[in-house]
Amino acid sequence: MDDSGAEHDGGWVLVEDGLVAAVGGAEAPACDEQVELGGALVTPGLVNTHHHLCQTLTRARAQQADLFTWLRELYPVWAGIDAEAEYAAARTGLAELMLGGCTTVFDHHYVFPRGRSGLIEAEIQAAQELGARLVASRGSMDLGQSDGGLPPDELVEEIDDVLADTERLAGMVDGDMVGLAVAPCSPFSVTKELMRESAALARRLGLQLHTHLAETVEEEDYCRELFGCTPVEYLADLGWTAADVWCAHCVHLSDADVATFARTGVGVAHCPTSNLRLGAGVAPVRANGRARRRRLGIQRAERPLLRREAGVAGGARPRRAGGDDGARGAPDRHARRGRGTRARRHRLARAGEAGGRRGLAD
Ligand SMILES: [Zn+2]
Repeated sequence: MDDSGAEHDGGWVLVEDGLVAAVGGAEAPACDEQVELGGALVTPGLVNTHHHLCQTLTRARAQQADLFTWLRELYPVWAGIDAEAEYAAARTGLAELMLGGCTTVFDHHYVFPRGRSGLIEAEIQAAQELGARLVASRGSMDLGQSDGGLPPDELVEEIDDVLADTERLAGMVDGDMVGLAVAPCSPFSVTKELMRESAALARRLGLQLHTHLAETVEEEDYCRELFGCTPVEYLADLGWTAADVWCAHCVHLSDADVATFARTGVGVAHCPTSNLRLGAGVAPVRANGRARRRRLGIQRAERPLLRREAGVAGGARPRRAGGDDGARGAPDRHARRGRGTRARRHRLARAGEAGGRRGLAD
C-alpha cells in the first residue's frame, strides 16, 4: 500500500540506505539486490515502548500474584542478576520481539545489585549483535523497605551513585541505534528527591524521562497514604508532567489525569499483557489517545513514534486509540525508518510467487 492508499498485489518495496524509498506494483525498478518474499507481509517495524528484558529469565515465577506480591517474590531473584545473565536475557527477549516484527525496543532496567557492573552494556551488546534499535534506560530504586518502600534495602542505591552512573551511560548513546532514557522505577520504590534529581539530570543531558505510573489500585492507595495525592498529582508536583516524559501502564487515571497528560504532552506506554497477567485492570486507552503518541528517546530528528507497548509485538498492527488509523490505514512515515545501514544500498523486496519468508522491512 502506498501513501495514497492504493494497494499493489504482488508489489515491491524499494529499500535505500535502510529506508523504504518507494513501493509499487508494476514494473520493478533497477536495484542492486532483489529478495523474493513470496507470501510474506512487509510492514513498518513495530516499536516497543516498555519492556524489562532481564525478566525474560523469570517469567515462570509468581504466576498467581498481583503486582506487589509478584515484585516481593522476584526482587530477591533479580538481586542475583549479573552481566552474563543480563546478556542472555537480552539476547532472548530481543530475538523474540524481532521475530514478531519489532525493530525498536525500550528497555526499562532498574535493578542494579551492589557490586555488579556491565548490565546496560550487556544489553546494548546484545542489541548490536542482533541489529535491534535499543533505547536502554538507567532505572533506579532508592526507597527501601526500611524507609517505607517496597524493594528490599539491599536492592536500593544511593542517589549520587544513580546520577553518576546515568551520566556515564549517557556517553554510550550511539546515533540512531542506541538511546538512553532516565527511568526511576515507580512511586513506591523511588524517593521524591531522586525523581526530581533524575528530571534535572535528564533535562541537562537532553534525555527523555520514564517511569511506571498508576498501574494498580494498591499504588494509588500508597500514593494517597504517603503523599496525600494521586499518582498523576504526585508526578505533577515533581515537575514530571511535561512533553519529555512517558509513563508505563497508566491504568488508573481519572478524566482530570488524562486531561493533564493531554495538556502537558506526557506519553503513555500501554501494557495490556502485563495488566492482564497481574490483574491490574484495563487502561482507558481511548481516553489516553490524546496523550499517548509520543516520540522515543533516540537522538535523531526522525525518530519513530511510539506505537505499541511491551511484550506482544507479535504481528498485530498498531492502531490509534481513537480508531482513526484503521486496519487498512496508511502506515506512519516515521515508523518506516530502517536499521541505520550506513553503506548506500538499493534493495528490492518483491512479493512474488515463491521464495523464502525472510522479512525485510524494518
Ligand atoms: Zn514495567
